[in-house]
Amino acid sequence: MIQFTKLRLSGFKSFVDPAELLIEPGMTGVVGPNGCGKSNLIEALRWVMGETSARQMRGGEMDDVIFGGTSSRPARNIAEVGLVLDNSSRTAPPSFDQDDIEVMRRIERGNGSLYRINGQETRARDVQLLFADAATGARSSGLVSQGRVGALINAKPADRRLLLEEAAGISGLYSRRHEAELR
Ligand code: ATP
Ligand code: MG
Repeated sequence: MIQFTKLRLSGFKSFVDPAELLIEPGMTGVVGPNGCGKSNLIEALRWVMGETSARQMRGGEMDDVIFGGTSSRPARNIAEVGLVLDNSSRTAPPSFDQDDIEVMRRIERGNGSLYRINGQETRARDVQLLFADAATGARSSGLVSQGRVGALINAKPADRRLLLEEAAGISGLYSRRHEAELR
């Protein structure tokens, strides 16, 4: 399992000013008053891992993740989220031969998203695959949103199998096979 060590946000939802959250071993929760941005943090994680559904981000369109302004501050046109992964035990695929991997996603109003891995521009697909191989990801069962426990209980066997495959770390292989078949 890959360890997340740092989450950086800027212009993302309520996190208008650059903010950095250290995710240290043993961290078990984020607490704070209603509306302070706890769910926004989890959504930032989901988003940087390649979430493509605006609805999953509680928005109507993806641009809604950009700080929309308040009575005292103007809206922004760019949102950025960076996630640093600890790869010191080389859990990522062998092409990543460094201790830290930083995945970055940036969105510009009206212009869509751009991804970078260690500063180098990359496809959304590569980011999604990196996380799928690490048995995590925007839709992974490691991130349980409201209502998903009930959905799991009521799931058909075939859908439950997808969860087991993801836990076993083989969902990335399926995506690659699918890509290969499309070529
Ligand atoms: P709760 O305890 O009620 O679950 P929470 O800590 O999870 O609250 P969030 O849902 O993360 O709170 O944050 C909600 C806040 O984020 C609201 O004040 C909302 O206005 C603000 N917010 C969401 N999207 C944006 C945006 N695009 N621009 C500015 N503010 C935003
Ligand atoms: Mg919340």
